[in-house]
Amino acid sequence: MAGLYVHVPFCAQACSYCDFHFTTRLNDRSRMVDAIISEIKASMPGWSGHTFRTLYFGGGTPSILGAEAIGRIAEAAFQNADWALEEWTVEANPEDLNTAGLKALKDIGVGRLSVGIQSFDPDVLAWMRRIHSAETAESAVRRAAELGFDHISLDLMYGLPVGPETRWEDDLQRALALPADHLSCYILTAEPRTLYGNQLDKGQLTAPPDEQVVREYNTLCKSTAKAGFEHYEVSNFARPGGRSRHNSAYWDGTPYLGVGPGAHSFSDSKRWWNARSNAAFLRASEQGSEGIKKQQASEVLSNTDRFNEALITGLRRTEGVHPAELLKDTGLDLLAQDGLQTLIGRGDCEWHNGRLRIPEPRWPMGDAITLELMH
Ligand code: SF4
Repeated sequence: MAGLYVHVPFCAQACSYCDFHFTTRLNDRSRMVDAIISEIKASMPGWSGHTFRTLYFGGGTPSILGAEAIGRIAEAAFQNADWALEEWTVEANPEDLNTAGLKALKDIGVGRLSVGIQSFDPDVLAWMRRIHSAETAESAVRRAAELGFDHISLDLMYGLPVGPETRWEDDLQRALALPADHLSCYILTAEPRTLYGNQLDKGQLTAPPDEQVVREYNTLCKSTAKAGFEHYEVSNFARPGGRSRHNSAYWDGTPYLGVGPGAHSFSDSKRWWNARSNAAFLRASEQGSEGIKKQQASEVLSNTDRFNEALITGLRRTEGVHPAELLKDTGLDLLAQDGLQTLIGRGDCEWHNGRLRIPEPRWPMGDAITLELMH
C-alpha cells in the first residue's frame, strides 16, 4: 500500500501568511507538468511491489493547472505503477472552480476536492490577500456538490490577529451550512519571510492572545460535534466516511512517493525530498532520472527518530499510539518514559482502548505534551 503526492508549485497570488513552496510566475506551468511527468516515469517503476491507493494533488494551487494537465499527470502515474485507487484529491481555490472547470475535474476522475476558503469575512480575506470572495467560495462548494463530487473538504483558519470578535463563530456557521464532509481548521502561525511574520516583527500587528486561540478552539470542537463531525486529528474533522485517507496514511507510516519541487517521499525508514526550487527541479528533470536523483536530499531515520515521529503523528489523532506496536517497530518502550505518569496524572494524556492519547481539550497544548514523551 502506498500514496502519491504531486506538488504543484504555482499560485495566482501570495497569501500573507503562507510559506509553502510556490511561485506566482505562471509561465513555466506546462514545462513543470512535463517535468513532473518525467519524474513519475523515472520514479514509479522503482515502487513495484507497492499498490498505490491514494493520489493527492497539493501545493501551491493545483487547480490553477486545469483538469487537462492534472489528468495528464495522473495518467502517467496510473500507467507507471499498480493502483487500486481509493481516493483522488485535488486542492483547489474557489476562483478556479467554475462549472466547466469542476465538470472537467469530475470527468477525469477526481473524487475529492479540498477547497481553500480560510474565512468568509471580506476584510479578513483582504488581509490574507486571498483572491476569492465569500460568495465565490460558497457557490463553488455548492456547485461541486451538485455535480456529484463524493467528498469535499474546506480549509479554514483561526487564531487570527484581525477581524471582529465573532468572526470565527460566523465563519464556522457558514462553513457548516455548506455541503462538505470534511473540515481542516488550522491555527494561523507566523512564519518568517511572510507578510504576516514581517508585520509582527515590525510591531504593525500583535499576535492573538492564547486565550483567544483556546476559546476559538473550544468553539470549533463544540460546533463541529453538534453538526455531526468527528474530530479525528488535531486540525481535521469529518462526517462519517469523510476522513482523508491520504493524510491518514501519512500518519500511519504508510510509504508515499512525492513528486514535484520540494515534495517529500518516505519508505522503509528513509525520507528523501526534491529541491525546493522550481528552476533546479526543471533543470534536473531535463537530465533524466540521474538529474532528479542528484538534486534530492535524504535521511535515514533511526529507531529514536521513528519513535519520536510516531508520537508526533499518533498523539495528534484521536486513536493515539499503542505502546506494544511502538516497541515492536522501534525497540523503544513508551511505558518506560519518565514523564508518562505525571502527564496522565495532570490529565494531559489518557488511556483509551489500550492506546495512549491526548484528550481533545488538551490538543492545543499537544506539541508541548508530546515533547515530554519524546526521546
Ligand atoms: S495559502 Fe495556498 S493559495 Fe495562498 S499562497 Fe499558500 S499555497 Fe498559495
